[in-house]
Amino acid sequence: SSVWSNVEMGPPDPILGVTEAFRKDTNPKKMNLGVGAYRDDKGKPYVLECIKKAEAQLLKENLDKEYAPISGAPEFCKASAQLAFGEKSDIVKNGLNSTVQGISGTGSLRIGAAFFKTWYEKSKDFYIPTPSWGNHTPIFKHAGLNVKSYKYYDANTCGFDFKGALDDISKVPEGSVIVLHACAHNPTGVDPKPEQWKELSAVMKKRNLYPFFDMAYQGFASGDIDKDAFPVRQFLADGHTLSVCQSYAKNMGLYGERAGAFTIVCSSSDEAQRVMSQLKILIRPMYSNPPVHGSRLVTKVLTDPALRSEWLKEVKGMADRIITMRQKLVAGLKREGSKRNWQHITDQIGMFCFTGLKSDQVERLIKEFSIYLTKDGRISVAGVSSANVDYLANAIHQVSK
Ligand code: PMP
Repeated sequence: SSVWSNVEMGPPDPILGVTEAFRKDTNPKKMNLGVGAYRDDKGKPYVLECIKKAEAQLLKENLDKEYAPISGAPEFCKASAQLAFGEKSDIVKNGLNSTVQGISGTGSLRIGAAFFKTWYEKSKDFYIPTPSWGNHTPIFKHAGLNVKSYKYYDANTCGFDFKGALDDISKVPEGSVIVLHACAHNPTGVDPKPEQWKELSAVMKKRNLYPFFDMAYQGFASGDIDKDAFPVRQFLADGHTLSVCQSYAKNMGLYGERAGAFTIVCSSSDEAQRVMSQLKILIRPMYSNPPVHGSRLVTKVLTDPALRSEWLKEVKGMADRIITMRQKLVAGLKREGSKRNWQHITDQIGMFCFTGLKSDQVERLIKEFSIYLTKDGRISVAGVSSANVDYLANAIHQVSK
């Protein structure tokens, strides 16, 4: 038999599968609400103006294409840490952060996972919320960690199960790692309120649990980069030393450029340097060093005052458009005469909305209306526009009345 006769056909990616079915559909009214990428109000992919300007400047600078350092460009790492922790934070000033560029958010999570597998002695158990981003489990397992879960989403309220999360987290063995979505939880759009974050932080501190933040949407949730980073900064204020994974895919629209960062906050600058040395030793055999173009764009946008202020407006523009679509969808459902309570659609935040639709209702949306979404009832609100929000409201009402 041939060398690979043992290789079985694997299942297709559940989200990319939705796009494939969408492509084949000839209905002119079809909608793709599966994939999590921002679209403008015309339904088109959006390149930020600040990014176009940064790109034009870079072209003029006529830079070479030499390798970046293993850990990425130092200016990029510094600007990323400052974005996460805030300009006023002493962490960067005092050299307490070990920050490396990752291959966007995914790669940053993967480096973090590798570091914890090798160096975190208290536990190899990573607790993720139920549900969580579908890639968390494979990323952590691929690094050899154990993936466990804590309660998060309450299907009855389509909101945060605060009591369930606290109960579960207070039973987790000491030293375990708790994975937290800093904002715009994927797939539910449900975030804890500031007071709830404070309580979670207190419980985790008391029980010596390690906060591992995945911050893939800073600025994209509320439109305000500082507001969205609140949990990370609150946990730091409460004395946690933590890790944070960042991505510029959503908040700068740099999906394919793969720019992100992984940071471990350390107790001293000496410790931070030792941690950095080991991060580099893990990165080198994986991919040697990260891509340069995306990180150059990010550095320009974050450090050039004019570009930065333009970016802050644009990221708010994206967040606001999504928030407006949520409001229009709820208004549309009311207009259709829906008697159901859809308040969760506007309570939830970020790219995604967990509609609460059951799988048979999702099936009908696809078959009867050519509206494509994942089976769990998640829609990407970024795929909704002024032109099709009423069509969507009508369809959801038809399958849920
Ligand atoms: N974490 C979460 C929760 C996400 O939703 C995403 C993007 N879908 C990522 C990480 C990473 O995405 P990327 O690798 O494209 O930055």
